[in-house]
Amino acid sequence: MSGYRLDPLGEGVYDNEMVRVIPVRWLNLQEYQSKKIMVDHGVTVQRFFVADTSQDAMEAAKRLKAKEIVLKAQILAGGRGKGSFTSGLKGGVHLTKNPDDVGQLAKQMLGFNLITKQTAKEGVKVNKVMVAEALDIARETYLAILMDRACNGPVIIGSPQGGMDIEEVAATKPELIFKEVIDIFEGVRGDQALRMAANIGFKGPLQQQAAEQIQKLYSLFLKVDATQVEVNPFGETPDGQVVCFDAKINFDDNAEFRQKDIFSQDDISESDPLETEAAKYDLKYIGMDGNIACFVNGAGLAMATCDIIDLHGGKPANFLDLGGGVQENQVYQAFKLLTADPRVEAILVNIFGGIVNCAIIANGITKACHELKLKVPLVVRLEGTNVTEAKRILSESGLPIISARDLEDAAKKAVANVAPK
Ligand code: GDP
Ligand code: MN
Repeated sequence: MSGYRLDPLGEGVYDNEMVRVIPVRWLNLQEYQSKKIMVDHGVTVQRFFVADTSQDAMEAAKRLKAKEIVLKAQILAGGRGKGSFTSGLKGGVHLTKNPDDVGQLAKQMLGFNLITKQTAKEGVKVNKVMVAEALDIARETYLAILMDRACNGPVIIGSPQGGMDIEEVAATKPELIFKEVIDIFEGVRGDQALRMAANIGFKGPLQQQAAEQIQKLYSLFLKVDATQVEVNPFGETPDGQVVCFDAKINFDDNAEFRQKDIFSQDDISESDPLETEAAKYDLKYIGMDGNIACFVNGAGLAMATCDIIDLHGGKPANFLDLGGGVQENQVYQAFKLLTADPRVEAILVNIFGGIVNCAIIANGITKACHELKLKVPLVVRLEGTNVTEAKRILSESGLPIISARDLEDAAKKAVANVAPK
């Protein structure tokens, strides 16, 4: 075990090796969507409604007939409790005993951006709120089930000190983070679930109840092809109930074909529009915050390219993964996308032709550069299938291409052609 560190994208506690320069792309649903899935799997969550107007939010609060209401802004980022809105309202999670207050609070959430430590500086616009029955919380613990590279499979991570300071706990009190490795053939055994429940501080009958919730969360994890199910707080109420107060589920993109219902809920309004555009042409685009665009084939090569740029003192602006079986038109679309970002000061093409025919890439590049009147320096490293022909096409194209011998040379040349970051 190489120790855990916090996932920069969520509240999760992750294996070090899983955290790379490149953010992992997966489907992430809103809390209310995750909780609907939990209800279907017998996991205990509070009763709730979802609203997109303040009027509906207030009516929902009345319909709940609860002694206290919790109103929660729905965005694809954590840390909402400690966040603040561009309306001036502090906190993305509000408790109130009076349903009439809900309308007023929702008015200060809906249509405004919520800024948390996990969002960009400008925050994320809130289009929906969750109106739930608030329950008293006696204790907040942390519980997650996730894929762990070090164990080659799923693990359960838990801490008796959950809640809004879990990052702090993971960083300063690693002894309070517990782990159970799940055998994929056996599933979560009863004794494991009970041990985790005990480790995170559930006592007496609550221990059994928490263990049952853990096992239900694991069957959900399997059933929906999740890569992560995170519950924080995984809490207990003074009257002896174990409740999942907050939930976040991430899904494996590769399972889209058999999780159609889940993937059809993908809300692209919070996605990078370039990513969405790229997907139309079967291209994978990931935006980052540097100034060198990377044009590659394959995720492994993308990571290596980003890492080596980093090593030579540069910063990738994005990468665009062509994948295999590439067509000339995709190369053209890819260039169009890469250059659409005004922060891009140079493009690094790094293609290793295996399945990919380098000549197709060279033709695509030539066409794209002419038609798009490329203005930034273009560094090209091609290797593999039909590379001689590809090099001939490029050298006869009359384009001011900076060719590179190998990846290292390419990275150095790209870094030399941009302003330092
Ligand atoms: P996050 O900040 O985005 O992770 O949002 P959470 O849903 O985890 O809410 C933040 C905090 O609000 C939790 O850690 C709880 O302390 C509190 N909270 C959320 N729901 C309830 C509730 O029903 N009752 C009480 N008493 N507190 C709640
Ligand atoms: Mn939370």
